[in-house]
Amino acid sequence: MTKAKLTEEGEQEEQARDRQEIWDALPKGKVYHVPTNPDDFFTGISYDISPRQAGQRVRKHDMYCELGGPKQRYSSFFFIEVVKGEDKIEDGRVEVIGPEIKEIEGQSLPFGFWIRYYGKELTEDYLDLLTRWTYFALEEGEGWMLLNTRDTIWLRLHKKDAAKHDFEHLGQAMINLCKIQFPLVEKADAKILIATEDLGGSELTKGIIDNVCTPYWERVDKRARAFSDGDADTFYGCTICQTFAPSHVCAVAPDRPPYCGIITWIGAKVMCDLDPYGYIFEMPKGECVDPEGGEYTGINEKIYEKSNRTYKRVVMYSSITYPQTNCGCFEAAIFYIPDVDGLGLVDRRYGGETPLGVTFSKLAGLISGGQQNHGYCGISSRTPRSRKFVRADGGWNRIVWIPKEYKQILTESIPAEMFDKIATEEDCIDAEGLREFLKRVHHPVVTLWKDGETPDPLNLPSPNTDWDQEEEKKAREKGKKVLTILPL
Ligand code: SF4
Repeated sequence: MTKAKLTEEGEQEEQARDRQEIWDALPKGKVYHVPTNPDDFFTGISYDISPRQAGQRVRKHDMYCELGGPKQRYSSFFFIEVVKGEDKIEDGRVEVIGPEIKEIEGQSLPFGFWIRYYGKELTEDYLDLLTRWTYFALEEGEGWMLLNTRDTIWLRLHKKDAAKHDFEHLGQAMINLCKIQFPLVEKADAKILIATEDLGGSELTKGIIDNVCTPYWERVDKRARAFSDGDADTFYGCTICQTFAPSHVCAVAPDRPPYCGIITWIGAKVMCDLDPYGYIFEMPKGECVDPEGGEYTGINEKIYEKSNRTYKRVVMYSSITYPQTNCGCFEAAIFYIPDVDGLGLVDRRYGGETPLGVTFSKLAGLISGGQQNHGYCGISSRTPRSRKFVRADGGWNRIVWIPKEYKQILTESIPAEMFDKIATEEDCIDAEGLREFLKRVHHPVVTLWKDGETPDPLNLPSPNTDWDQEEEKKAREKGKKVLTILPL
């Protein structure tokens, strides 16, 4: 065994010990033992869980209660882990720490769902699959609205369905949905933490995010980033979100994680191996017709077939020319700003206006639904960490604006020489202010402007239509030009 591997395993074991200590030290709640016999897995659950419930939105005035999300400054978590050691888990144990659903009508609270799975053959390679199935209890659960993942999670429960719900049965649905779909899971338990002020509020959830979730996520993400598109002959497609965004297809590649932030290329591979006729399918790459943009004949053919013959092309590393389609569950978005011929980035955490004059929610509403919106692309909040991030558009050299908080989160991914050249809401939001800022900091996009003074915006085609060939060529040349500029 190599030294690196030993170090990695040592780090993994130390993290596992820390997690167990924190798990044991959480405030005590009410303990339930939910059915562990498959015949009774769903006994007592009185809400519908099915694809027809997917993608629901719950408006403020219809809301019974809200967990996480912007009002709580995204201080909640949905954490799923694979535990080593059978004795660590008491199968079917669901502990509800804090009030029950019927006690929080009209309230908005921070929360944490901590779900643990054990199986002799279960490894972290199955994490995406476990996450996907656990989330279905809410994503396809009657009355629930679920947005985002991990530490940006946001839930709302609809008033009309509230009487059907309680946390005991939600815990039961989450772990048993996963068990029934995935026989490698032998044991599962859950802690559902509703972090009222007396329990520690968002201070408690943030502490768990910092000490439990983030180290675990960073480790599994690092492993996923070890692969690159060049290492893979096959990418994977996913159509799970077609339940609410017809025609939407994600092409999942090592360098192109999808919007939901759940599925990775490794996870998609595992899922496809287990269930080759499911929502996830192989996409043999075929011939690479555009290495810079990431366009492949095999991917285009599969996208066409699986999008009900709607989309013929996808340029994997572009948000301007033929980007991937947008479903609606994306955690962040890239948007073209014609006033400066650059790209902005915004995530769900930011509630203010962008330089387009709209908020994230408004933008998300405009570009979701499974359409191919040239110039606009939903992404996972971690997509900018990809080494091929919008490479066809000029990479980081084309990014001109990011909200301050999101920019800080992305610090390690932003090239050092570009960091101060990217504006935040504190520098400017309006187009004129942004133009002045970019000129002042000698941002690479200024080299695309006429005489370095007047932006020369692209003429983007309408959603779902083709580019004019000359304009597409111009767009790609701009991307190439700005990519090669060494920021001053
Ligand atoms: S965003 Fe894409 S990869 Fe994720 S569940 Fe939806 S279709 Fe699948």
